[in-house]
Amino acid sequence: EAKQDRHAVRRFHADLSAAALERMELEQALRAALDRAEFCLHYQPIVDAATGEVRALEALVRWRHPQLGLVPPGRFIPLIEGTDLIVPLGAWVLREAARQLRVWRRERPGLRVSVNVAPRQLAQPGFAEVVQAALDEFSLDAEALILEVTEGAVLGQDGEAHVSRVAALGLPLALDDFGTGYSSISRLHRLPACWLKIDRSLIQDQDAAAPARSSRPIVRALITFAHEAGVQVVAEGVERPEQWRDLRGWGCDLIQGFVVARPAAPDDLVWGPWRLPSA
Ligand code: C2E
Ligand code: CA
Ligand code: CA
Ligand code: CA
Repeated sequence: EAKQDRHAVRRFHADLSAAALERMELEQALRAALDRAEFCLHYQPIVDAATGEVRALEALVRWRHPQLGLVPPGRFIPLIEGTDLIVPLGAWVLREAARQLRVWRRERPGLRVSVNVAPRQLAQPGFAEVVQAALDEFSLDAEALILEVTEGAVLGQDGEAHVSRVAALGLPLALDDFGTGYSSISRLHRLPACWLKIDRSLIQDQDAAAPARSSRPIVRALITFAHEAGVQVVAEGVERPEQWRDLRGWGCDLIQGFVVARPAAPDDLVWGPWRLPSA
């Protein structure tokens, strides 16, 4: 038995160092990719639940890898968010989103773009200046970019202070992935957010087979709470027309998901307005 244990320990160490090596290589590759400008942004429409008109687009980063092709953020963002590399990448994302929005606004005044902001970015002392610089460079008003922060970022060390500092400057915040973490519903009224984004998992569970397992009462309660706090609700990951119909009936303000459109490069975007398909 002792022999088996020793074996397991050795295998564990081997795996660990392989993972560490991969991690280092990936980190170096990401650094080089930033220098070579291999990142690009795709955009997903966020539409008015009642009219189907596009109100905003969420900017979602992709890595155009010379060999691997288009790499989705799930493959590199979690790693990069643990390093200071997220700071320059995040700054690039903000500037690129602002540049693109300037172009779109010629035809669509009032359009907004939401950008994902990692906890480490938010904690940077100069973060608000980075956002302001992107807005100024492209002559955008303070409302143009919406900063998406997760519950994790708000709950983390000094999270609420960072969030409040940014909000005090008039930069709009969205609470992303709401309902996945230790939900801060009790603090919702204290958070200066303009949007509450209900996480896809809660939207998908709406139509769970067993009524007892359905998230419908939670989703409805979240919409009520948010509205009483003066916050608009975005439902994320809406895939089916029935989900859209229910959410609209419950007063949900905005819809984002494959039922409307998948994220796409700026040239491939379809602008709608989308009609709720009849069931
Ligand atoms: P997120 O912020 O929750 O973004 C929504 C994700 O859900 C996107 O995945 C989007 O393509 C996907 N999605 C949208 N509608 C549907 C739907 O109806 N069904 C399903 N199954 N999925 C849907 P994506 O683009 O792969 O991004 C994954 C995550 O990567 C994002 O989750 C966000 O946390 C992170 N991310 C993306 N871009 C950035 C960025 O610029 N900075 C940071 N820090 N994180 C980013
Ligand atoms: Ca997001
Ligand atoms: Ca989300
Ligand atoms: Ca998510």
